[in-house]
Amino acid sequence: MRSLQEIIDKGRRIVFFGGAGVSTASGIPDFRGENGLYRQKYGELTPEMMLSASFFYLHPDRFFEFYREHMLHPEAKPNAAHWALYKLERMGKLRGVVTQNIDGLHRMAGNRLVYELHGSVHENYCMDCNRQYDLNWLLHTEGVPRCPKCGGVVKPYVVLYGEAPDKYTCMGACREISNCDVLIVAGTSLAVEPAASFIDYFHGRELVVINNEETKADERATLTLRGDVSQIMGDLNLPEV
Ligand code: NAD
Ligand code: ZN
Repeated sequence: MRSLQEIIDKGRRIVFFGGAGVSTASGIPDFRGENGLYRQKYGELTPEMMLSASFFYLHPDRFFEFYREHMLHPEAKPNAAHWALYKLERMGKLRGVVTQNIDGLHRMAGNRLVYELHGSVHENYCMDCNRQYDLNWLLHTEGVPRCPKCGGVVKPYVVLYGEAPDKYTCMGACREISNCDVLIVAGTSLAVEPAASFIDYFHGRELVVINNEETKADERATLTLRGDVSQIMGDLNLPEV
């Protein structure tokens, strides 16, 4: 813990690269962790199949059933890890949060330099007329959501398996990773590509990995902390902002 504090105190350009493990303390299950969605059975289908673009187009009704039940957590609030990152951004040390999460909690905590590689449940758009709808609107619909203006299907702005992430978001994330001196990789199994490979752009001084199980970035890390990311980030001594 002391080493992490030192690295952060000395860091001038810090980037945080996170995954679903950053939000488990907010009550949102991850995919591959101890209580992850991958441990449950959905008949013959895996969450990866149900969250794929082809499943969305072939079975939109079943897609939205799964999506509403497992991917939407409107009651979730930022936890100590999100708040620590908010402070680090306000201190001018944190140059970006690159996240694979779609829950919007970093923005809810107040961070502005957020690269949501896989989109956000807070944004939805009509596939026919492109009108935008927020999460609250979606929560008041049932089944396959339809645009009240034109009747088109409203699709979450979430990157499904088989879809490419947004080019400009990826470019921004990779630029920040390649320019930072400290990269903190936390709460991610590094199983989802291309996101996981973005950390290869890092050529800075300190690579910190915080995860409650082994990851493939551990061997390259200058510091590996095994434990709860919200507790570890929350224990940092940061000034009130
Ligand atoms: P993952 O489920 O594959 O891996 C999460 C990792 O974090 C695991 O290694 C787990 O052991 C670890 N972990 C869980 N809770 C932790 C904690 N409190 N402290 C430390 N480590 C913890 O998640 P991923 O790598 O982000 O990939 C999953 C994909 O699914 C992503 O692309 C993401 O878009 C999506 N997803 C998002 C959310 C969300 O938005 N909150 C939730 C589930 C899945
Ligand atoms: Zn429409």
